[in-house]
Amino acid sequence: TCSAAGRGTVVIGLAADSGCGKSTFMRRLTSVLGGEAVAPRGGNPDSNTLISDAATVVCLDDYHSLDRTGRKEKGVTALHPRANDFDLMYRQVKAIKEGRAVEKPIYNHATGLLDRPELITPPKILVLEGLHPMYDERVRGLLDFSIYLDVSNEVKFAWKIQRDMAERGHSLESIKASIEARKPDFDAYIDPQKQHADAVIEVLPTRLIPDDDDDDDDEGKVQRVKLIMKEGVKHFAPAYLFDEGSTISWIPCGRKLSCSYPGIKFAYFPDTYFGREVSVLEMDGKFDKLDEVIYVESHLRNLSTKYYREVTQQMLKHADFPGSNNGTGLFQTIVGLKIRDLYEQIVADRAASPALAAVA
Ligand code: ADP
Repeated sequence: TCSAAGRGTVVIGLAADSGCGKSTFMRRLTSVLGGEAVAPRGGNPDSNTLISDAATVVCLDDYHSLDRTGRKEKGVTALHPRANDFDLMYRQVKAIKEGRAVEKPIYNHATGLLDRPELITPPKILVLEGLHPMYDERVRGLLDFSIYLDVSNEVKFAWKIQRDMAERGHSLESIKASIEARKPDFDAYIDPQKQHADAVIEVLPTRLIPDDDDDDDDEGKVQRVKLIMKEGVKHFAPAYLFDEGSTISWIPCGRKLSCSYPGIKFAYFPDTYFGREVSVLEMDGKFDKLDEVIYVESHLRNLSTKYYREVTQQMLKHADFPGSNNGTGLFQTIVGLKIRDLYEQIVADRAASPALAAVA
């Protein structure tokens, strides 16, 4: 048939700790992929699933095997593999890839309980976002592309303070304590996944501001962001600056780009990451005027845009999303374009060799 079964769903994994920008990234990705978001079929208002014409985004919290009470009784956090049902995750993702619909559980964040399941039919693109998309070897083997959002502790702390203190009235001590409590399981089960990622977006404190006082106020506002791209990944050609394979340091501030203190600095260089060859794009600082991103965009290559200014236009369209004025927004947008490109290449390959598509 020419149904989804014949085409096969392209599966993308997006891993990060909570509060590190997964939902924001998903909103950028679905915008790049196009298509209207529609409500989940079952109409469950507590569903965590985001469905559009182009992609279905499943939150892996739905595969918690222990609810909040169960976790408390057994003394495990949601980050611990024992609190998650990887067998079910594997079976369901495999079924979707093979063109079969599944009844996926729903984890209700408000109650901490598992709700009645919802029907997920095979989409063109399935995104698995959450704590553990690359943890289980079998699930990892089903991913066509994987991304890890690596937010350093300093920055995670600054973002949490911004949100939980300013908006939710938590105390500094309680925010510190909750980050500390998660850290052992985070280090053991979440962080190691980044070695498997095809692309990593690493968010670090800026180097543009001299670190000569204890006031890390500025660090929360200015970030150095690295886009680490694995070489030799099928259907993924890393973006680069000026000249592929070179080592470049670039300060674009001047006639075409306004930069207030502390300025903007780009870098591009080859590197190794967990023993693998990668190329790295780096941006330190923040944009003053988003429409000037075109100046940077016009110096980047292999962006997988469909028309002139597409990156800039996406950044402007979502100027209100967190990170739009810095490397997090820029690199999330670029990775979104890369995923669209990867999907289109996979579809084109299958069209060119239908026999292979039937086997796969
Ligand atoms: P997740 O889905 O991983 O929990 P979200 O995308 O919902 O993360 O972001 C959670 C919060 O973290 C945001 O409301 C914002 O306060 C902060 N945040 C996320 N990404 C950024 C960013 N790039 N720059 C600044 N703050 C951010």
